Amino acid sequence: MDCVFCKIIKGEIPSYKLYEDDLIMAFLDINPYAPGHTLIIPKEHTLDINTIPEETLNHIMKMAKDMAKLVTSKLDAPGFTLIQNNGFVQEVKHFHLHVIPKYRKNLEMDIKDVYKKITH
Ligand code: 5GP
Ligand code: ZN
Repeated sequence: MDCVFCKIIKGEIPSYKLYEDDLIMAFLDINPYAPGHTLIIPKEHTLDINTIPEETLNHIMKMAKDMAKLVTSKLDAPGFTLIQNNGFVQEVKHFHLHVIPKYRKNLEMDIKDVYKKITH
């Protein structure tokens, strides 16, 4: 299957990985809305909110809190937003939850520096 996120899970496409376990993986979005923009995906390919197993979805929501805590604290973001797209607004057809840190002022940072700040 030609799925970019399945390729990231397999390591066929590199990513700035922040977390993984048996069920899920979290990594930085390559085209971020804001520094620290993170995607959380199930390891098993599934389309969207209607097809993801309940147990996996619950785990992703739990981990979203942990990932948000991590990135907002490391990057001094005073807030964050969660987004999950379905249907025609969903560009990548493998379920993903966006965790997007919010800043009071527009902030531009190189993704490599963002990754260093989060992981060090
Ligand atoms: P959607 O509109 O489907 O909710 O968002 C898809 C997201 O995946 C976009 O924010 C886009 O930047 C991100 N994305 C697409 N391809 C890649 C990739 O190869 N690597 C990473 N890290 N993010 C990607
Ligand atoms: Zn996939």
